[in-house]
Amino acid sequence: MTGTPTGTPLPRLAPGSTIGMLGAGQLGRMTALAAARLGYKTHVYAPDAADSPAAQVSAAATVADWDDLEALERFARSVDVVTLEWENVPVATAEHLRRFTNLNPGPNVLSVAQDRIAEKSFVNQLGIATAPWRTASSAEEVARAVAEIGPRCVLKSTRLGYDGKGQARLDSGSDPVTAWTGIGGGKPGVEGIVEGFVTFACEVSVIVARGADGAMVAYPAVENRHKDGILDVTIAPAAPEKVSAETAAEADRIARRIAEALDLVGVLAVEMFVTADGRVLVNEMAPRPHNSGHWTMDACATDQFEQLVRAVCGLPLGSVERVADAEMTNLIGDDVLRWPDLLAEPGARLHLYGKAEARPGRKMGHVNRLFPRR
Ligand code: AMP
Repeated sequence: MTGTPTGTPLPRLAPGSTIGMLGAGQLGRMTALAAARLGYKTHVYAPDAADSPAAQVSAAATVADWDDLEALERFARSVDVVTLEWENVPVATAEHLRRFTNLNPGPNVLSVAQDRIAEKSFVNQLGIATAPWRTASSAEEVARAVAEIGPRCVLKSTRLGYDGKGQARLDSGSDPVTAWTGIGGGKPGVEGIVEGFVTFACEVSVIVARGADGAMVAYPAVENRHKDGILDVTIAPAAPEKVSAETAAEADRIARRIAEALDLVGVLAVEMFVTADGRVLVNEMAPRPHNSGHWTMDACATDQFEQLVRAVCGLPLGSVERVADAEMTNLIGDDVLRWPDLLAEPGARLHLYGKAEARPGRKMGHVNRLFPRR
């Protein structure tokens, strides 16, 4: 089953229509807020939707499992279109929903984006470079992959890893058995991928929005700095001293090429490493709004969330014009306790996600700071 094929215009949904949203976290919340600005309603569906960040700002919420076929059908029949904020929605769920309504991005996109092996194979088939990688489904295979790739590498679970979870860094002294069990190896369904460690000059991402008519817009390449495996700061656009105009153009070309090859309708974020000699290697992608695009909320004519709404509602994409340069800082865990200071800081734009408990590592909000365009 494929997504809505390019050239098949989506019916243009009039304001007042309802957008179904799979997943109920902060990305769903900010999409629902963008949808509301344009007069749409949002109905979220997730196993944990009650009082979730997205449900708090949506017209309706269904709390049901991904395999509850009746609840899915009821949900699909009650909305005008469905999109998602989480790429790990089971493909079978997506296929079921598509029997009743338009769902974008479609199951074909999800199956590529939710498995690191499928993702890297897809990217490499387009002639786009990644770090060298091997699959591994046992500690012995990890050891063999390390022997082929070199001792400095990263072992990752192929599915459901995010923010550095399900990952182990390996070096010459590392024990493959410890690494393998550390990422959950040996448990049912767990597979691994061993990637060469990239000594990158910086990490960048490009966010593309694409409509059913094949129209595409992209935000400029931004620099992402991580702390403990979690995005900490995004610098938008990436400084030219760090990412040359040619490298930024290459990152843009790569992201557009992938969106086109996926026949994506929606928003796609592509995360890449830039090496000291200016090579661009794809790390991973997400077919949804992305943390590294939150700066667009305050610095661009149209933000990434509104682009998703426009793409899935069959509307023309918005202008990506940048009205300011920006720095986005995530508020992780207790960082959110700084909210009174951030509110008092002139020009700081605070976005909080409505999460009750500030657990360590949990994304609680972010702050955008704007600067005159360079
Ligand atoms: P991921 O979940 O794949 O995005 O990994 C989280 C972070 O770990 C990345 O943003 C990088 O900072 C780092 N990382 C992941 N893979 C590699 C690699 N092959 N080489 C160097 N750093 C990596």
